[in-house]
Amino acid sequence: MNSTTPRLTEQVHLFLKSFLKKGDAVIDATMGKGYDTRFLAECVGTKGRVIAVDIQQDAIEHTRERLEAVGFLDQIDQSIRLCHASHEQLDSLIPQGQVGQIHAIVYNLGYLPGTDKSITTQAQSTLRSLQSAIKCLQRGGIISVLIYTGHNTGLDEYKAIVRWADSLGSEARAHWKSGFDEARRPPVWLLIEKI
Ligand code: SAM
Repeated sequence: MNSTTPRLTEQVHLFLKSFLKKGDAVIDATMGKGYDTRFLAECVGTKGRVIAVDIQQDAIEHTRERLEAVGFLDQIDQSIRLCHASHEQLDSLIPQGQVGQIHAIVYNLGYLPGTDKSITTQAQSTLRSLQSAIKCLQRGGIISVLIYTGHNTGLDEYKAIVRWADSLGSEARAHWKSGFDEARRPPVWLLIEKI
């Protein structure tokens, strides 16, 4: 990567911006401080649907404030839903009729920067979530996963996701959009496409 290459988070946003259309239905599976939720809400507009999920109440508050700052407060509980829940069973968090209709599901794994690092995504619950995410997607829909391999549990989570992605059957295909290097342990971007 040279100095003109966008950071991985920006590359993910550039990709999502070109993939999503106004009116699409999307899930932010790791809401955190709400940067991705706000970005997704901008991409799909008021006719779209955004469901954002996090296990921390702080994440809901941060995201609510971030949405309010750009004038999206009125959309909360309308086109944007903020769920204080684990993402393990995404299909149970969306209305029955929307299972199999979602266009994109976004994960930014790890912990909320500047807070308790022990509250982080975990390999086994992430795998359960990814499996339920495939169920939620429509054909041609995508799951974007940013995996941080540099922290304590991040490397194990990455290795578990690699094994899971290698074992995907005919329902979905994995595209590794950036490489892993054991010495540097960079963030890694995985894109999964439902077939
Ligand atoms: N996308 C966020 C943003 O734009 O600010 C950053 C996400 S942060 C790196 C990871 C988040 O995943 C943390 O807020 C953490 O609380 C959340 N998380 C951890 N385990 C989770 C789970 N089982 N279900 C939902 N969220 C979880």
